Amino acid sequence: MTQEISIYNTATKQVEPFVPLAPGVARIYCCGPTVYHFVHIGNLRTFIFEDLLRRVLDYSGFTVNHIVNITDVGHLTSDADTGEDKMEKGAAREGKSVWDIADYYTQSFLKDWERLNLKQPSAWTKATGHIPEQIALVQTLEAKGFTYTIPDDGIYFDTAKFPRYADFAGLDLKGMQEGHRIGVTEGKRNASDFALWKFSPPNEKRAMEWESPWGIGFPGWHAECSAMAMKHLGDTLDIHCGGTDLIRVHHTNEIAQSECATGKPFSRYWMHGSWLVEQPTADGAGGKMSKSSGEFVTLDLLIEKGYGAMDYRFFCLSAHYRQYLNFSWEAMDTARDSLKSLRRKTDPLIARASAIASDNALGWQKRFRAAVGDDLGFPQALAVLNQMLKDPDLLEGEKGALIRDFDAVLGLRLEEKPERADTALPGPLMALLDERKQARADKNWKRSDEIRDLLKSKGFGVKDNPDGTTSWFPV
Ligand SMILES: [Zn+2]
Repeated sequence: MTQEISIYNTATKQVEPFVPLAPGVARIYCCGPTVYHFVHIGNLRTFIFEDLLRRVLDYSGFTVNHIVNITDVGHLTSDADTGEDKMEKGAAREGKSVWDIADYYTQSFLKDWERLNLKQPSAWTKATGHIPEQIALVQTLEAKGFTYTIPDDGIYFDTAKFPRYADFAGLDLKGMQEGHRIGVTEGKRNASDFALWKFSPPNEKRAMEWESPWGIGFPGWHAECSAMAMKHLGDTLDIHCGGTDLIRVHHTNEIAQSECATGKPFSRYWMHGSWLVEQPTADGAGGKMSKSSGEFVTLDLLIEKGYGAMDYRFFCLSAHYRQYLNFSWEAMDTARDSLKSLRRKTDPLIARASAIASDNALGWQKRFRAAVGDDLGFPQALAVLNQMLKDPDLLEGEKGALIRDFDAVLGLRLEEKPERADTALPGPLMALLDERKQARADKNWKRSDEIRDLLKSKGFGVKDNPDGTTSWFPV
């Protein structure tokens, strides 16, 4: 028996009861990271939102088939299929092969995944592991007449042949066309057309390229998610998730190519997590946290500054996933203090946990289920938890049992010992940062500057903060 839940569907712009294609089974696909750099905590907010969805589905009795992909093949830095290849850019920055870069940043991402207590998906899928499936998708679209070739460039999807193209994101195609500068990609019929397969430049060996019916080349960015989602979950998914920044281009293109290939709806529901934003500073800077904006905050940096991964998770739970969440160090302090005070109350109760038996306890469980089942209402769910703890009529054993039950969804590891702030940071880069810290403590300014320059040559700037900590950022 499954509990009824409701979710906001980006496609219809309303909260709807969740009705999967097959009763009791939820097949969900989440767009994963491009592994050319560390993920920042803004990216991690999206993965926390998706974990909360996963946990609510589990908690509500669904059998969940959950796929997360790793984009380890270079898509280009611009959404318009132009610019540099992100993976090759990462490789050049660090003097490694693209395969080593993909491996290193995948491991780093999985470490963050573990520390944030995100549930393992049913399967991780890698773009490079699904090249034949992507080629097959492009072949199907070609056979059905949805593509055209730009010589020396690639195979493109003709968005004019999918009349509903603009509907999902409410795009102004006419405006896009007018703003489309000749020369962005010469030969594109419509500004919104996108590459399904790119040809390798003649006389140039790319680090990642494959044989195809169209010669040596590599897939366009969007092809991988459609190919992997449909291979592992079927032609029509139940829920497709991602960050709101993926709506206009990536998900719009996934829908176009998938639905034109199969003639079926691609996903019954679409869910998108909102941004983590940096509080506007006096000079007006701020906005969405992103890698291109300069300094970005990683989970490692939070831990280095003395916060736990669960403090960040708790911080994310405090805001609804469809609302902007303002990041600041003060807000992190508040989250850390709140989680600490929550744990002071829950620790002794968990030790005495019995079973959820009385009508009163069942009532609290019902209220909690209603909150999380109402479009992932986690701020309300936390309020229910706090009110429950204050209920004078509830036995301590039942309180303990309810905390355990709620934490299956909150995922705050309330049953475990508070995590030790993990100051070990991954990789040789972090070893260099540590060495520099020591050099500064020893007032060895020469060595400190040498390491700063070495890090810079590897693409990382460092900043010494007034509080004695050091931040780093890509340059
Ligand atoms: Zn995707």
